[in-house]
Amino acid sequence: MGAYAGLGEVSGKRVLVRSDLNVPLDGTTITDEGRIRASLPTIRALAEAGARVVVTAHLGRPKGAPEERYSLRPVAARLGDLLGRDVEFATDTVGASAQEVVAGLEDGQVAVLENVRFNPGETSKDDTERGAFADQLATLADAFVSDGFGVVHRKQASVYDVAQRLPHAMGGLVAAELEVMRRLTEDPARPYAVVLGGSKVSDKLGVIDNLIQKADELLIGGGMVFTFLAAQGHGVGKSLLEEDQVDVCREYLVRAEEAGVRIVLPTDVVVDTAFPSGDREPEPQVVPIDAIPDDSIGLDIGPDSGRAFAEVVAGAATVFWNGPMGVFETPAFADGTRAVAEALTEVTAKGGLSVVGGGDSAAAVRKLGFADDAFGHISTGGGASLEFLEGKTLPGIAVLED
Ligand code: ADP
Ligand code: MG
Repeated sequence: MGAYAGLGEVSGKRVLVRSDLNVPLDGTTITDEGRIRASLPTIRALAEAGARVVVTAHLGRPKGAPEERYSLRPVAARLGDLLGRDVEFATDTVGASAQEVVAGLEDGQVAVLENVRFNPGETSKDDTERGAFADQLATLADAFVSDGFGVVHRKQASVYDVAQRLPHAMGGLVAAELEVMRRLTEDPARPYAVVLGGSKVSDKLGVIDNLIQKADELLIGGGMVFTFLAAQGHGVGKSLLEEDQVDVCREYLVRAEEAGVRIVLPTDVVVDTAFPSGDREPEPQVVPIDAIPDDSIGLDIGPDSGRAFAEVVAGAATVFWNGPMGVFETPAFADGTRAVAEALTEVTAKGGLSVVGGGDSAAAVRKLGFADDAFGHISTGGGASLEFLEGKTLPGIAVLED
């Protein structure tokens, strides 16, 4: 139990563990259980040391009130299967059910509390409201272990405030994730390539600022690429576009050139006249970036770009990738993502460090059939890893270091 030395003997103690169990669901079917698997070692280690383990986590984005579709019940059941132990489930987070379930735990038993975001105090911007909720959470435990890397960039009650109220320690998963992030920032083996994609464009633009000073090559695909293409003067049809960020992207292109960082953008894209949906067969069409039709949406990087991206990535000694290159959920738009994933596995194979970060990116590589160990590391946190790379202080980490 070295990692939890700060807590002393945990046997017989109630230990609240903040895990990240925010898995993608299709109804009540878990479509990628990577985050549950990543949470197992800490929970198992505490249970085996005789702690009464109380797991708190969120699922999706409920608005501070219970919503059946965001219930953690199916996740708790799967956690029990994977742990090979009975896992108790409380139908609320700090109410009568939670108190009863926690009071009934024996040494070495595990309970999961219902979605912590069913409580408005969890994500409140008001310190007092958040603190009051953290007080309630803290009454359920004698100690706190922070193990949800995907949420450590959030100043939330179950991540931040509760750590101020209980003896606390960093969980093994968070420690392992931080170790990889440090290898990426402190002295990465070069060339160092960073691949960015996905759909949360404005969230991810910030990281580019910092990466212009760190990376040798910056490859951009996915939804965010169209703001860059617009900055270069290309028409982007009906593709995802952040109009108010076009100038920012133009400035990044100039600064990257000055800094000697190569920004690699696609030369062709796969478009369709509608966003993929169940009602219609996709009609993918490959076009050069200077000929995106006005009525079309860019949904993947094109085949030439896929090959060019793969070549740059495969030549790197260190690579960090966040965000799919296209709408990979539909096979017609998954080729760019597959090409980049394949290139990351080549980096691993020749002894380099390849890191995949982000919930959808991790789900994408698994959906496309890649084995987890074909990558150096698959991070459970997208936003958290990007904020770390941006050089920001992560509140959920800083609070543990006090
Ligand atoms: P992550 O969870 O890995 O951080 P994001 O949440 O930012 O990644 O983005 C993932 C989503 O981006 C996927 O659902 C994918 O369909 C979508 N996406 C990728 N390329 C495009 C595009 N060109 N247009 C719209 N959405 C896209
Ligand atoms: Mg995502």
